[in-house]
Amino acid sequence: MTKMIYGLLGHPVGHSLSPAMQNAAFKAAGIDAVYGVYDIAPEALTDFLSSVSKKGISGLNVTIPHKINTRHYIEINGMIDSFAKKLGAVNTLKPGPDGRLCGFNTDGPGFYRSLVEDLKFEPEGKTVFVLGSGGAATAVVMYLGNGPKRIFISDVDKEKASALKEHYGVYYDKSRISVVDPAKIEGGLSASDLLVNATPIGMKDDDPSPVVKEMLHRGLRVYDLVYNRPSTELVKDATRLKLHAATGLGMLLYQGAIAFEIWTGVKAPIAVMRKALKEALKEGYGG
Ligand code: NAP
Repeated sequence: MTKMIYGLLGHPVGHSLSPAMQNAAFKAAGIDAVYGVYDIAPEALTDFLSSVSKKGISGLNVTIPHKINTRHYIEINGMIDSFAKKLGAVNTLKPGPDGRLCGFNTDGPGFYRSLVEDLKFEPEGKTVFVLGSGGAATAVVMYLGNGPKRIFISDVDKEKASALKEHYGVYYDKSRISVVDPAKIEGGLSASDLLVNATPIGMKDDDPSPVVKEMLHRGLRVYDLVYNRPSTELVKDATRLKLHAATGLGMLLYQGAIAFEIWTGVKAPIAVMRKALKEALKEGYGG
């Protein structure tokens, strides 16, 4: 039998952790497959997507900048699952039996699984504060849905935060979500059970925490979506205060694990994937 082909579609994709994680998973599951990278410029996306089956590719992850345009393509030429449709972005593709692509989004469920597994936190009925309102925050908020009793969102770009509230309101109870002025996050944060950092602050070596330490209260859980380093100032501050805190490595792990399960129908070897991710991080990958 020929080797199956999987990969990551993005631009650029040079420093991704996904090949290390997925290749380790295929090996551990005894599946003869290779996971590579497809660096495809935006103007070449449609041609690439229309030739996925012809190329013999059995599954893809999709990353920046292609998640939204892949959704547009799939809505016309393929099938889209309900969460990817609601979110408006696709991060996983699988060709169906007729060769048409099926699009999924595993970022939201990956975040949720990490929240439950890594932070031991179930958001139902709780209050959640999300800092940032870009693509990652949208996946988080749209997957939380009507679960939390209240969601605060705050972004330096207030219009972007308001747009996320409107997007949420198309599907869920808009009265649960409040946009918070970035200069006044303390009030919302003090009433929250979970803080999610969905800004890029923490990705660079000298980045401070996006939240001053004094605002972290007892009982607050902290989930920092940043995953390209072993820890961040936010996670370090929270840990010093003995709060439960995690980086986004778990979200990256579970979004990949769920994609693996969609492609193969085989339970993902979580421990092997986590180990491969950590090793790849040590080697200096992580873009
Ligand atoms: P994005 O689209 O750039 O969104 C981030 C938003 O945060 C932007 O609107 C940005 O505003 C805003 N922001 C920046 N500093 C802020 C501050 N101090 N307070 C409030 N808002 C602030 O980025 P993204 O793609 O959503 O990614 C966000 C983070 O999530 C990144 O660290 C990324 O690596 C991580 N992520 C992790 C995973 C995972 O699997 N763990 C998956 C996806 C993303 P401006 O644009 O005006 O600066």
